Amino acid sequence: MKNRIAAMIFLMAAFTAIIFTAISCSSDTTTGTTVTTSEAPAVYQKIYGATDVYVEGDYVVIKSNGRPEHKSPYYLGTQWQSSLYEAYNGPNPNFVLNPNRITEFSMTYKIPLNPAENTSHPSTPMGPMGVALNGVAFFNQYAGGGAPLTNEINSFEQYGGHPQQQGQYHYHVEPSYITSIKSDSTILGFLLDGFPVYGPTEHGETVTNADLDSYHGHFGVTEDYPNGIYHYHVSTEAPYLNGDGFYGTPGTVSY
Ligand SMILES: [Zn+2]
Ligand SMILES: [Zn+2]
Repeated sequence: MKNRIAAMIFLMAAFTAIIFTAISCSSDTTTGTTVTTSEAPAVYQKIYGATDVYVEGDYVVIKSNGRPEHKSPYYLGTQWQSSLYEAYNGPNPNFVLNPNRITEFSMTYKIPLNPAENTSHPSTPMGPMGVALNGVAFFNQYAGGGAPLTNEINSFEQYGGHPQQQGQYHYHVEPSYITSIKSDSTILGFLLDGFPVYGPTEHGETVTNADLDSYHGHFGVTEDYPNGIYHYHVSTEAPYLNGDGFYGTPGTVSY
C-alpha cells in the first residue's frame, strides 16, 4: 500500500514537472498553441531600443516602450524632463510645440521573418506602421483623418518626431538622431511587412523619389542583405517614408 502511494506521488510529481516544462516553453496566449522561439538574426539585433527581440514561428517579435532615447522638447513636464528635455533647436522658424507630451507604451510588433511581396499592396494603417532602431514607431504620410502632413510638419522637433494625442511619440520622416549616430545610409528599422527601411543616401548618393517605386522602395543589395532585398528609403520629399501602401503583407502591432 505504502509503495503504491509512493508510486502515485512520484507519478504526480513527474506529471507536474512535465506540465511546468510545457508551460515554460513560450506559448502563444492568443491561440493556446505552443510556438517555438529562437534568437533573432543579427540584423534585428540592430534594433537597440527594443526591450526584447526574438523569433516566434514565422515572425520576429520586437518589444519596446516606444519612447525615444534622445532628447526632445516633448519631454517638457514629464517624469523624464530633467534628463531628456531639450528646447527646440532645429531649423524650422515655424516650429510649434503641440500640446501632447511623451508617454511610455508596451509595444509588441510581430513582423514577417521572411517578407514577401503582396501584389495587392495593403494600405498602411493610421498609427504605427513600423518600428525604428530605437524602438520608436514609424507613422505614415498622413495626419489624422487622412489629411496631408502640411501643418503637422511644424510640430516635428529637431529629431523629426512628435507625440500624438495619447502621447505616443513617432516619426513620419527621417529619424535624424539615428542617422546622426549611425550614418545617412544605415538601416533605420522595419515596416510591419518585414521589409527594412534605410537612410536617405545609398552608395554615396542621395536617394530621391525618382529612384523609388510608388511604395517608396526598391530592390537592391544592402550592407545587411548581401543577396539583395526589397527595402524602403526615407527621403526629404513627400511621402518621406512610405508611398501607396506596404510592399508586402503587414504583421501586427499591439499596445
Ligand atoms: Zn504624427
Ligand atoms: Zn536602396
